[in-house]
Amino acid sequence: MTDKTAVVIGVDIGTTSTKAVAFSATGRVVAHHAVEYPLLTPTPAAAEQDPEEIHRAVLAVIQTVVRKTGAAPGDVICVSFSAAMHSVIAVDDDGRPLTRSITWADSRAADWAERIKRDWSGLAIYQRTGTPIHPMSPLAKLVWLRREQPDVFGRAARFVGIKEYVFFRLFGRYVVDYSIASATGLFELSRLDWDAGALELAGITPDHLPEPVPTTFHLAGLAPELARELGLLPTTPFVVGANDGVLSNLGVNAIGPGEVAVTIGTSGAMRTVVDRPVTDPSGRTFCYALTDRHWVVGGPVNNGGIVFRWVRDELTASVVETAKRLGIDPYEVLTRIAERVAPGAEGLLFHPYLAGERAPLWNANLRGSFFGLAMHHRKEHLIRAVLEGVIFNLYSILPAMESLIGPTRTMKATGGFARSGLWRQMMADIFNREVVVPESFESSCLGAAVLGLYALGRVDSLNVIAGMVGATHRHMPIAGNVTIYQRLLPIYLSIPTKLEPEYQAIAAFQRDLSATGTTGVAAAAPMTQEVLP
Ligand code: ADP
Repeated sequence: MTDKTAVVIGVDIGTTSTKAVAFSATGRVVAHHAVEYPLLTPTPAAAEQDPEEIHRAVLAVIQTVVRKTGAAPGDVICVSFSAAMHSVIAVDDDGRPLTRSITWADSRAADWAERIKRDWSGLAIYQRTGTPIHPMSPLAKLVWLRREQPDVFGRAARFVGIKEYVFFRLFGRYVVDYSIASATGLFELSRLDWDAGALELAGITPDHLPEPVPTTFHLAGLAPELARELGLLPTTPFVVGANDGVLSNLGVNAIGPGEVAVTIGTSGAMRTVVDRPVTDPSGRTFCYALTDRHWVVGGPVNNGGIVFRWVRDELTASVVETAKRLGIDPYEVLTRIAERVAPGAEGLLFHPYLAGERAPLWNANLRGSFFGLAMHHRKEHLIRAVLEGVIFNLYSILPAMESLIGPTRTMKATGGFARSGLWRQMMADIFNREVVVPESFESSCLGAAVLGLYALGRVDSLNVIAGMVGATHRHMPIAGNVTIYQRLLPIYLSIPTKLEPEYQAIAAFQRDLSATGTTGVAAAAPMTQEVLP
């Protein structure tokens, strides 16, 4: 193998699909392939996937991407992995699944998460483990499974995540990287090992879990026939890798001090890298491992682009129809309409809590609202206020993060929202920071590939990423806009802190209606259960 012919393959096991991207040793995309699969929701609160289907998808993407590169088996430096966090599969003694893969989006453990928080020292567990107490967390899922499906729980030999399942199918060993482990709510960050208190609460011992290993850990020894089918050697290393969030930070080159990665796709997240585990005294942020010297602190939000999608689908049908007829993207038409109004939407604020909210308030009962409506407000003000509200909401995580990690400088922005120049400039103005849109193509795959190169000693440091990722857009804050937003931000931030009982009451009202099926609220029931990433 020469550096010219060598490729490294990053595989990302996501919730809608598994993707594989083959990169050259310098980070150039050589080939890519994705295989989709469904998220199964037999009840509104359940969100599961078939582990075998995902295993087959992993094999298929590797095989296809190797074939597309035309690489000889010996040209593949390694296959390195990224995966969605928080999944749980119960397996029996022979490694056969007793449950489907219960994903992050599954909210059946909601009541148990509340009990852990309220009655079982949830905050102390969070502070040791870095995973907010929430139905997404495997800790809450195990507590739920033990109480509500004791038969399955009792028969389970182990509880593993989807990537651990795939590695077991490939190599017959249960290993979990520190990064996925740090998102289980069961892993003590300071010791890099399972947390005795959390395991006791879940009713398990370390034998019920995979063996924790560094994210650079690799295995080899594929069955020769399988290696041949995939176009690899039996000795090709498989790097265990990390979770998709922390690898996305690496893949967009947001690993330096003060660099914040902000993603707004359907949901959203804000993350920054620090050199030691850091948790929040009041539980507002997560802390997940990238390596044992890189830790990612941040917060996820439910209400990202999905709120703009709601505007498109529910409030602006006629605009959307016209846009479609003209062959224009309706989102572009809507952002152009919003552009007619000045920053601040002439004093109209929107709290985008249509799907409850995670960071920083972690309250499933939050509900959306327009505040400040007056006779001079028209549809364009409402649209602009919605776009601004999504950014205000992400901004509300920043004080919690900065109180833990110090000042931040630059935002690296990704996700569907970054297609809009207006929305990107809003981010620069509301955050009063430079916003850079990195060239990003499957950033978690690139992150996995770079981690793989580092694991195998092909690069000395993860900082090589800086030479692999350029910028497509750059926005500086505009002083006049910053002044307006800085006046509005305190008003925006103070409202949710004042309305806690009212949020709870209105959410209870909606739940009661949906339970009796007396209104259209029933159709929106899943939204009330906080099922978004
Ligand atoms: P996902 O997180 O599901 O992968 P994306 O990253 O593609 O989704 O983001 C989808 C969201 O991006 C949409 O819900 C919408 O809010 C936003 N979006 C997509 N295209 C545009 C656009 N041209 N202008 C503004 N926002 C857009």
